Amino acid sequence: MPKCPYCGFDGDLASFEQPRSPWRFRFYAVYRLKCPKCGGVFQYYEGVSPKGKRSAFTVRVRPRPRKR
Ligand SMILES: [Zn+2]
Repeated sequence: MPKCPYCGFDGDLASFEQPRSPWRFRFYAVYRLKCPKCGGVFQYYEGVSPKGKRSAFTVRVRPRPRKR
């Protein structure tokens, strides 16, 4: 299950907003998720390696600075 790297909220994928559709990166499915609790945006990678090992991790996405 994905876990927010900013505030620690965790839930299943349906708990998070998905600002865009998931895509593939190598053997991973990549989800862009927005935390419903703190609004932080991160990417969740989930997949099974060619050796059959399941792995999942999150990557922080730095919010774009707002233009004045
Ligand atoms: Zn959060």
